[in-house]
Amino acid sequence: MSKKTIIVSNRLPVTVSKNTEDGTLSFHPSSGGLATGLSTTYKQGGNLWIGWPGTYGHDDKEKIHIEKELKEDNMAPVYLTKEDVNKFYEGYSNKTLWPLFHYFTEYATYDKDLWDSYIHVNELFLKAILEHAEPEDTIWVHDYQLLLLPGMLREALPDATIGFFNHIPFPSYEIFRLLPWREETLEGVLGADLIGFHTYDDMRHFLSSVNRLLGYDSSLGLVKVKNRLVAVDAFPMGIDYDKFEQAANSDKTKQKVIAYGDLLSKNKSILSIDRLDYSKGIKHRLLGFDKFLSKYPEYQGEVSLILLVVPSRDKVDQYQHLKEEIDTLVGKINGKYSRMNWSPIHYFYRSFSFDGLSALYKASDVGLVTPLRDGMNLVCKEYVASKTNQQGVLILSEMAGAAKELSEAILINPNDENQIVEALYNALTMPEDEQRSRMKEMQKKVRRYNVHRWVEIFMNQLDNIKEKQTAMNSRLLPKKSQERMLEKYEAASKRIIFLDYDGTLKGFAADPQSVSPDQELKEIMASITADPKNRVVIISGRDKETLEAWFADFKVDIIAEHGIWLRRGDQDFEMIDNLNSDWKSKISRMLDRYVDRTPGSFVEEKAFSIAWHYRKADADFGDLRANELVGNLNYLVSNMNLQVMHGNKVVEVKSQDVNKGKAAVKFLNDDKYDFIFAAGDDVTDEDTFLAMPKKSYTIKVGIGASAARYNLKTVADVRQLLTTFGNIK
Ligand code: UDP
Repeated sequence: MSKKTIIVSNRLPVTVSKNTEDGTLSFHPSSGGLATGLSTTYKQGGNLWIGWPGTYGHDDKEKIHIEKELKEDNMAPVYLTKEDVNKFYEGYSNKTLWPLFHYFTEYATYDKDLWDSYIHVNELFLKAILEHAEPEDTIWVHDYQLLLLPGMLREALPDATIGFFNHIPFPSYEIFRLLPWREETLEGVLGADLIGFHTYDDMRHFLSSVNRLLGYDSSLGLVKVKNRLVAVDAFPMGIDYDKFEQAANSDKTKQKVIAYGDLLSKNKSILSIDRLDYSKGIKHRLLGFDKFLSKYPEYQGEVSLILLVVPSRDKVDQYQHLKEEIDTLVGKINGKYSRMNWSPIHYFYRSFSFDGLSALYKASDVGLVTPLRDGMNLVCKEYVASKTNQQGVLILSEMAGAAKELSEAILINPNDENQIVEALYNALTMPEDEQRSRMKEMQKKVRRYNVHRWVEIFMNQLDNIKEKQTAMNSRLLPKKSQERMLEKYEAASKRIIFLDYDGTLKGFAADPQSVSPDQELKEIMASITADPKNRVVIISGRDKETLEAWFADFKVDIIAEHGIWLRRGDQDFEMIDNLNSDWKSKISRMLDRYVDRTPGSFVEEKAFSIAWHYRKADADFGDLRANELVGNLNYLVSNMNLQVMHGNKVVEVKSQDVNKGKAAVKFLNDDKYDFIFAAGDDVTDEDTFLAMPKKSYTIKVGIGASAARYNLKTVADVRQLLTTFGNIK
């Protein structure tokens, strides 16, 4: 079967409803931007859109009917109960995530019962998808109602291509960290291969939360998640430009403009369109308009605000309350300024037909779009696309994602009433030429980055990250090569095995002393060291005392402190060469200063090297200080025959005459070996790999480039390989 694409969103692009009188079902397609943009994708071949059809409480017969109808249009339903909708949608999605992600922390509720329902519904989506998905399909999940789904999908279908797009803002770490279930949420999203946001700000907020809360680093938008590469990028969503442009020129719209009569033709008109939502800044906008009429009284009787508020989420308390506040404010302003033949505000609390919207967009003089926070905001783009005569001015809030693209709008801070007042004045007095040149520039951008292009770019990037992952995985030790390696191992009579410790035999922990060998590792060590044909060398940056204590029960050789100290069997440690350590006090003074300036960091002093560890420091801050420190150290050591190594959360200074490779060569020269093996994960292990003879088996643990012949993904993979070595007698 060929690979297919599955689109997943909370709502299907169709609403099923049941006639209360005769019980018949009807299907109303949605014409929203996402549905249009994705229509070419999901309607093709065996592709599919999975989501909630907007109703509940159907019996089996009705379900069969719904499924049959939906199937004809390449859709499949996820059934939710009334309780699910109440707790998952109105509850966790709209009372927890929506306010938090829009920076309305005071509105966010944290209720374990709602969170449990959110997990449950994400699982229902998973189940529905698994009924249709093949292991290698492409699955594109949309929006904040389904943040856990990519992770669930990754577990069920490890090889699937999974995309995720967040249509609302992603808040800064300081806000996101308030969420009690923040780690689970991030892990859920990171199940995707590509994670898309509207703006670069959302993207960097996400990456910073991932780094601070989960400890995953990123570089150029690529995050290493447990050795899987995940791409994070910004894709500003567009609209179906042609649809709005054509509608604006259509007879239907022209007739609507005529039908609206005085509303659009008598006075200058300012257009405001939003769903009822506190994030949209409707109250601020009304207060700004009030102030405008009072500061510029010459506009009283001359300009009207057409305020269109689309009913939304009216079961959530805050929305009911907001509606009352808007009603009151509109009443107050109209009461204050109205004349017999003029009202300052024409207020509509309902949705408009597409032609109606098109007429309002086309014929109004000013588009006033001032959300306090908005992921993208499509209304402003639709306004621009509908201005086919290029007359009209857009006033746009800086807090809308669209402001990043529409820099020719009059950009304002919606919290500053005076800015709204002055923006309105400037818009109403703007010369026609200027209106045209600004509108032209904006139209160019909105036309080019339309919703079809948005889909295309996202899908291309999804292919790209899959290619990158494949290239990375191609370095992984293939099964065949592993089998050959095991044959060579078995046939060999003298083997030498170099094993790095941290990140190779044992995973990292915040406290370097807390990771002594566990039971499994001890068994592996016992097994491979028991074979008289094996010489096992622990080759580590750790101090010799620790290594000696940890491996006291095993017949091992030790190379400690990155190659300074060498111990053959149970002999004493000897230094690789005559090294001096006079330089240490000078370096240690500098490192101590960094400890004082970086909470959570500490210095580890060894006989011939000094290390500054910052694993326990704040992640970003630690990186910042480490880079600064490396710069300063490089300057300081320039004529001291020392080297500065920036490892995994550690900066270490040691003599240039020492490295793991040089030490390993000394051991190689002790005898003739017919099987040579080395495994390590860090930059310091690269010296070991480079020093090994050509036919050796060298393994880098983790993904990424290396001088090693192969990569293995995890410590567990290394342990498994060593266990196999141990089983060969
Ligand atoms: N809209 C609509 N009916 C109306 C008013 C608006 O369908 O009566 C549409 C509008 O054309 C736009 C969408 O609702 O496409 C609002 O999208 P936006 O991104 O601006 O805000 P959101 O509601 O998604 O937060």
